[in-house]
Amino acid sequence: MNEERKGQIFAQIEEVRKRTDIVAALRKHMELLYAGNSVYVGKCPFCKDPDPPMFNVHKARQFFHCFGCSEKGDVFTFLTKLQNRQFGDVLEELTKEAEAGTSRPKLSLVP
Ligand SMILES: [Zn+2]
Repeated sequence: MNEERKGQIFAQIEEVRKRTDIVAALRKHMELLYAGNSVYVGKCPFCKDPDPPMFNVHKARQFFHCFGCSEKGDVFTFLTKLQNRQFGDVLEELTKEAEAGTSRPKLSLVP
């Protein structure tokens, strides 16, 4: 891959990250409750933590973190790990959604 193409992809990733709401994206896969201060909490889909939920999503900073299993990252990390998908595949999907300006539920859960 040449430098120009790499630059285009990095720019695309940044643009998609900016236009994707991590809370809306994750809510297609799990329940999240608003806990205040731009933080949402839910039951971790990676470690199935017992109550109380230890999975936190920071809307303002657009990342998630689980205090149970230490999984953390952004919306790309979440989708690639949860669905065991390729990064490029997730990027393509989020790009389409960002372009459409919607966050309609259409992803299916892990088969
Ligand atoms: Zn966890």
